[in-house]
Amino acid sequence: MPLVTSKELLKRAQAEGFAVGAFNANNMECVQAVIETAEEEQSPVILQVSQGAIAYAGLEFATMLVKTAAELATVPVVLHLDHGTDFLQNVRCLRAGFTSLMFDGSSLPLDENIKITRKITEIAHAVGVPVEAELGKIPKVEDNLTQEQVDNLMADPEQAQRFVEETDCDSMAVAIGSVHGMKESIQPLNIERLDEIKQRTGLPLVLHGASGVLCTRADAAEKGVKLEPHQGTLEDAIKHGISKVNVATELSMAYLRGMKEAFEARPGEKDMRKIMLPGKNAVKEVVRYYIKLFGSNGKAGRNGAVSGLTASEIKYHE
Ligand SMILES: [Zn+2]
Repeated sequence: MPLVTSKELLKRAQAEGFAVGAFNANNMECVQAVIETAEEEQSPVILQVSQGAIAYAGLEFATMLVKTAAELATVPVVLHLDHGTDFLQNVRCLRAGFTSLMFDGSSLPLDENIKITRKITEIAHAVGVPVEAELGKIPKVEDNLTQEQVDNLMADPEQAQRFVEETDCDSMAVAIGSVHGMKESIQPLNIERLDEIKQRTGLPLVLHGASGVLCTRADAAEKGVKLEPHQGTLEDAIKHGISKVNVATELSMAYLRGMKEAFEARPGEKDMRKIMLPGKNAVKEVVRYYIKLFGSNGKAGRNGAVSGLTASEIKYHE
């Protein structure tokens, strides 16, 4: 089916209390792994193209990969730009056919972030494409910050309200304690802060850096992480209004692990596909785990359609 936008999908996720997984599209095997699993679980899905993927594959190649996968898919698929760097890149992606944009102005002064985000929402909304913005700073694991430093970078609820009013963004990535690129899922989230932002904005909210976040309270107990009253897990965050969750690092690690195991089992193998396929299958299991955790399984809708797409949005994607 044709690509759908993230607008109605995230609104529906927000209304029904589930989250949609945004999985990174780095190569054909990863894209296929995500789509096949989404079909098996009857889940809508977001395939996102990161700055790393654009540098690696080129924008045209990455775009066509996701578009082709969506055309063949029986579940709704969104093509999303992850961490768009500036206005021009967003325009290029809009022209290339992305059905969801992101501008990450979190490293800019607030007024500058608002100004550029606003410019992007104006042109994207003219053709029915929604825009994700980012507020607060979601650090990288390489920054080596303490928990207190991570907390100091969190999104401010009052600023969030002003940001949404002035930019008209459709969803917002909020820094609530997660860290990009973590190899282990041990990081708690600040649910109290999430509630405050939710109350002030009413928007579908997005969580980045999910690979490093504690998935469930059972996981926290097993890993010996004691949660403070204001803290929670990924599962808690979805109950409190996170509607889109980005998963990248864990997919990449699964792909490498699958290939490494296959290579070790058949060191003399000369057919590359026999090494890459176990990598793809390892990605599928991570995607399946998250789709079930997010509760988006079974939400693809009748005949794969997302309920509630507006007529203009459907027309736009014909
Ligand atoms: Zn991110």
